[in-house]
Amino acid sequence: MPASFVIIIKNSEMKAKRAEKILSPPPVHFVGDGFRVHNFIPGVYPLTMARMDPFILLDYNSKFRFSPTDKPRGVGVHPHRGFETVTISYKGRIAHHDSFGNSGVIGEGDVQWMTASAGLLHKEYHEKEFARTGGDFHMVQLWVNLPAEHKMSPPKYQPITNDQMGKYVLHGDQGIIEVIAGSYLETKGPASTFTPMALMNARLAAGGRARFEFPAEWNTAALIVEGSVQINGSDTAPADHFVLFDNEGEHFTIEAAEDAIVLILSGEPIREPIVSHGPFVMNTKTEIYQAFEDVEKGKFGHLED
Ligand code: MN
Repeated sequence: MPASFVIIIKNSEMKAKRAEKILSPPPVHFVGDGFRVHNFIPGVYPLTMARMDPFILLDYNSKFRFSPTDKPRGVGVHPHRGFETVTISYKGRIAHHDSFGNSGVIGEGDVQWMTASAGLLHKEYHEKEFARTGGDFHMVQLWVNLPAEHKMSPPKYQPITNDQMGKYVLHGDQGIIEVIAGSYLETKGPASTFTPMALMNARLAAGGRARFEFPAEWNTAALIVEGSVQINGSDTAPADHFVLFDNEGEHFTIEAAEDAIVLILSGEPIREPIVSHGPFVMNTKTEIYQAFEDVEKGKFGHLED
């Protein structure tokens, strides 16, 4: 019997990830009286929560000057269950308090990674001194979904100051990649996550260029926080725009036309049913009703307004 020979030619050449859409900022709305946001995920287009799974919500407060006040602006007591809130401050400071006695301040350049999971009540306000002087406020709040098996785990916080982030310095003064979660080449971010993902700020000098690589199936996007950039050497994405990448190809480049800050997010989809109602994101309707009931019963703790 003749031996059969099979030659497998592995295509080792990777394909570029294309910018599927470059979204301009949707009209702003206020969350409480302190967060003036463009909602990109799920958004008005809409992307749907599933399209960027595990990133199910992205509120972007583009740079906005708040006037001085002795009554800090913000959002009063509200619950969360079933996911994580990641707050990234580019300008301004945010104070928070929760129903289990935790509190803190998210400083400029810092990140708070809050795992709400089983549930808590909290309030989020401009930090007192920032409110008193007023000034530029520029931030992102991202909601990261949790897989079913972790939706009811105990809440926890990861305060991540800027100096704790992984810092990858691009050669030749092109800029720096600040890694919050996941990794950029050999540089790792400090955040621990429940599912594989990457979250990082590319701070690029004018002319600076960085290449990013993620698995094709990971949902990937870039938010242009400052400056104007070119994607893959062709598509232009101006400030406050959101670039959604398609799910083919593994790599893309970002080149800064002027000094720029770009938030890069990429994650492996959880691929579980998403049932959301306001501040609860669960897998079934029954779990949503349960969340309302548990708030009533005091299982989320208590917090004064
Ligand atoms: Mn909240």
